[in-house]
Amino acid sequence: GKGAAMVTAVAQRLVAQRQEIRETLATFTLSLEQLQGLRDKMRVELERGLRKETHSTASVKMLPTYVYSIPNGTESGKFLALDLGGTNFRVLVVKIRSGLRRSVRMYNKIYAIPMEIMQGTGEELFDHIVQCISDFLDYMGMKNTCLPLGFTFSFPCRQTGIDKGTLVCWTKGFKATDCEGNDVVDMLREAIKRRNEFDLDIVAVVNDTVGTMMTCAYEDPKCEIGLIAGTGSNVCYMEEMRNIEIVEGDEGQMCVNTEWGGFGENDCMEDIRTKFDREVDEGSLNVGKQKFEKMTSGMYLGEIVRQILINLTRRGLLFRGHITESLKTRGIFETKFLSQIESDRLALLQVRSILQHLGLDSTCDDSIIVKEVCGTVSRRAAQLCGAGMAAIVDKIRENRGLNHLDITVGVDGTLYKLHPHFSRILKETVRLLAPRCDVTFVLSEDGSGKGAALITAVARRFCAET
Ligand code: BGC
Ligand code: MG
Repeated sequence: GKGAAMVTAVAQRLVAQRQEIRETLATFTLSLEQLQGLRDKMRVELERGLRKETHSTASVKMLPTYVYSIPNGTESGKFLALDLGGTNFRVLVVKIRSGLRRSVRMYNKIYAIPMEIMQGTGEELFDHIVQCISDFLDYMGMKNTCLPLGFTFSFPCRQTGIDKGTLVCWTKGFKATDCEGNDVVDMLREAIKRRNEFDLDIVAVVNDTVGTMMTCAYEDPKCEIGLIAGTGSNVCYMEEMRNIEIVEGDEGQMCVNTEWGGFGENDCMEDIRTKFDREVDEGSLNVGKQKFEKMTSGMYLGEIVRQILINLTRRGLLFRGHITESLKTRGIFETKFLSQIESDRLALLQVRSILQHLGLDSTCDDSIIVKEVCGTVSRRAAQLCGAGMAAIVDKIRENRGLNHLDITVGVDGTLYKLHPHFSRILKETVRLLAPRCDVTFVLSEDGSGKGAALITAVARRFCAET
C-alpha cells in the first residue's frame, strides 16, 4: 500500500543521490591512458627544463644544485644545519663519523614560525630565523664555535654554486615580502650581521629533496633520486652533465632539483584538472602556480576534499544540506586527519568522531561518503606522483642506455609516512607505468638535517681537493 510506496520512493532517492556522488567523484578517476599521457607530458617538460632555449620558461624548472655526487662514506665532521620550509623550522647539530665506526648523530630543536612571520617582511623572517639559531647555540653552549652550516631551504632556488641560491618564488604557506629574486644566503648573512652577536660559515644551500636523496644514498649507493611527498611535492635526481645545457661541462653528473610541483602551469594538465582543483588554486597564496603540487601534496589534498564536501552539501547530498562554519574554514583537513579517516582499521563511528572534532556533525551515511571522497582525492594524488616518477626513472634508464634499470628512491614527507594507502598506490603506479625499471622506495628520514650536513661535508671535501 502507501507505506511500501513511500519506502520505495526513499530508496529511489538514495540510489539517485549515490549516483550523483559517484558521478562527481568519477572526475577524479584516471584511466590507464590518462596516466600514460601524464607520464609522457612530464617527460616532455623535464626535457624542456633541461634545454637552454626552453629552460627559462619551462613549467618544470629543472634547477641545477651543484651537488655532483652521492656521499662515499668518507665524510666526517661536525656541522650546523637549518631546515626551513617543511612542517617545522629546525636548527640542528650533526656529527658525522667515517671509517669503521661510521655514524651520524644529531641534536635538534624545533621552532614555530608564526603565520605573521611566514607572510610578513623578509627582514622579519630572517631576523626570526637568526633569533632561533641564537637560542639554539646558547642551548648547546656553542656560541663561540663557528661550524660549517648547511641551509636546507625547501623552495625553488636558482643556484650558481653550492652556496648561492636566488629564491625564484615562495610556495606552500610562505609569502614573505622582498625575498623573491634575492639570494637566500645573502639574506641570512645580512640578518646575522644585523644581530651582530655571532658568526656562521654558510657552506651550502640545499633543497629538501636533495638532502633526502643524500641521506638515503649514504646507506644505499643505488639511491639517485629524492622524493618529498609532504606539505609540498618535489623530486630531484642525478642527471648527466651533458644533458644539463645551462651548466658548462659535459663530464659526470649533477643532481637536478626538478621542482615538478610547477608542472601544469602551462596548462598541459587542464584535461584532468577538475573544478575543485581550480577552486583550490583560486583560494591559494600563489594563484596559477604549482598546479601539480596542488593536486598531490598534503597542504592541498584536504582543501580539495573540503571543496567537494561543500559542493555535495550545497546539492543536499551531505550533512543534511547544512554548510557549517567549520566547513567554510580553510585548512581544516590536515594530512593527519585525512590519514586517520582513510585508515582501514578505523570503525565508521571513529570517522564520525574525527569529523565531530573538526566541527562537522555527520550521520553514519555522511561519514561513509566523506571517507570515499578522501580516498578518491588521495588515490589520484598517489597516481599522479607515480606517473611523474615513472617519467623520471625511465629518463634515467634511457640516459644510461639500459634495457633495465635498478634504482632506489629516498623518500620523506608526512603524506608518504602517515597516509595508509598513498605509498602503496604510488609504487603500484610506477610499476605499471615504468615496466623496465625496478624502483625501490626507502623511507629516508631527516634528510633536511643529515643530508644538509653530508652535502656540506662533500662541498668541503671538494674545496680541499681542488
Ligand atoms: C617546493 C620544493 C620543495 C617541496 C617539498 C615545494 O613547494 O617548491 O622546493 O622541495 O615543496 O618541500
Ligand atoms: Mg652541460
